[in-house]
Amino acid sequence: MSDIAMSPVSTEEELARLQLERLKWSVAHAYNNVEFYRQKMDAVGVTPDDIRTLDDIVKLPMTDKYELRQTYPFGLRAVPFKDIVRIHASSGTTGKRTVAYYSQKDIDDWKDMFARCYKLAGLTEEDRFQVAVGYGLWTAGAGFQLGAERFGMMTIPTGPGNTDMQIEMMLDFGTTAIICTSSYALFPLRTLILGSERSSDQLRARIAELLDVEVFDIIGMTELYGPGIGIDCLAHQGIHYFADHFIFEIIDPLTGKPVPMGEQGEIVATTLTREAMPMIRYRTRDLSRLIPGRCSCGVIHPRQDRIVGRTDDMIKFHAVNIFPGQIDVVLSNAPGVGTEYQVVLRRERGRDSMILRVERCADTSLTNEEIESAVRDLMKSRIGVTPVVEIVPYQELPRSERKTKRIFDEREA
Ligand code: ZN
Repeated sequence: MSDIAMSPVSTEEELARLQLERLKWSVAHAYNNVEFYRQKMDAVGVTPDDIRTLDDIVKLPMTDKYELRQTYPFGLRAVPFKDIVRIHASSGTTGKRTVAYYSQKDIDDWKDMFARCYKLAGLTEEDRFQVAVGYGLWTAGAGFQLGAERFGMMTIPTGPGNTDMQIEMMLDFGTTAIICTSSYALFPLRTLILGSERSSDQLRARIAELLDVEVFDIIGMTELYGPGIGIDCLAHQGIHYFADHFIFEIIDPLTGKPVPMGEQGEIVATTLTREAMPMIRYRTRDLSRLIPGRCSCGVIHPRQDRIVGRTDDMIKFHAVNIFPGQIDVVLSNAPGVGTEYQVVLRRERGRDSMILRVERCADTSLTNEEIESAVRDLMKSRIGVTPVVEIVPYQELPRSERKTKRIFDEREA
C-alpha cells in the first residue's frame, strides 16, 4: 500500500503539462487505430496535429451513447485482439449492452486508480473489505476486488443480496468497510462506499448517523473503465477524479457549448491513457459541476460536485431547466420534510402546472401550511419556479430497492 502514489506529478502546472502530452497521444491513438474516430474527425476537418493546447479539445467531435451502441461490440477497439485481456459489459436494460475492453495496461491503470480511491477514503491494509456488489460481466464486483487486492486489504467477495449471509460474513470475518448499493447496519463497520445511485446529503447524513460510519461516493461507468475513477476524500468537499487519466469538461446539454467554471452541466469525459478503448469527448449524460480551486486535503486532482441527475431526467418547466438533484437540495434545506418526493407536471388549457408532493417528517411540530409555504418559497428562490406544494403523511410515498420514479410528466397526452 505504501507504494500507491496519488499522482505522478506534484503541482497543477505539471499536471496540465502531463494532460496535454497524454491528450495528444490519446487523440492520435484513436485517430490512427479506430475508423469511427477517424471518420468523425475527418468530417469536421480536424487532425491530431490540431491539438496544441488543452483548450483545443473543444475542436474534437463529441461521442454519445447512441454512437456507442451503433459500434457494438468492438467498433472502438484500438489494439489487436491479442492484446485485449478482459471484457466487461453493462446490463443493457434499455437497449444493447455497453461493452468495455481492456489491455493489461488498462487493467493496471484501473487497479491503481481504485487503490487511490481506497487511500482517499482513509482505508489501510488492516481494513477488511466486503464487496457486496455484482460480479460477472458487471464492472463493479471485479473492479472493487482488483483494486482492493492491489491496495492490500483482505477482500471478502460476497456479491450482492442475501442479507443474512452478508451479516454472517461481516461478523465472522470482521468486515470494517463495505461497498454496496443498500446498507447493512453493523457495528464493526467504519467505512461505507456508495456506488452508482444518486444520494442526497440528507440521506447520506442519515445513513452516517444511523450506522455510525463514514460514507464515500465513488464514481465511474462501464464506458470509462468502470467504478473507481474518482471518490470524495476525507474533507468531503467534492469528488476527486484522476486527471492524469481523464479530462472532464462541463457543457450545456442543450447547446453542447462549454459552461463557465463552477456552473452545472453535462460531464464530457476524455480518456488520456486508455489503450484498448479510447473515449474522446464522451457525453456521460451525468449532470454536475466542477469545483474551482484546490481541495483542503492538498490532493491536486480536480473535483466534481455530486451528480445531481441525468440529462434524460431533466425537466423543462416554464422555460427553466430543472434537475432532480436541485429538488433534493431544496428539500434538505426545508423544515419538517423528509427526502422522498414526487413531481407531477400537468397541462390544462395550455397552461403548465407543477405539483410537488412531499412527506412530513415523523417528528415535526410544524403545521402543513407552514411546511408548504417554506417549501414553496425555497423552490422559488433556489430554482425559480413556484409549484403547488402538497404535504402527505410520513411514509406515504412509494420507496423501492431500485431507482424510484419521482417525476411524472403528464403534459404529453
Ligand atoms: Zn480532497
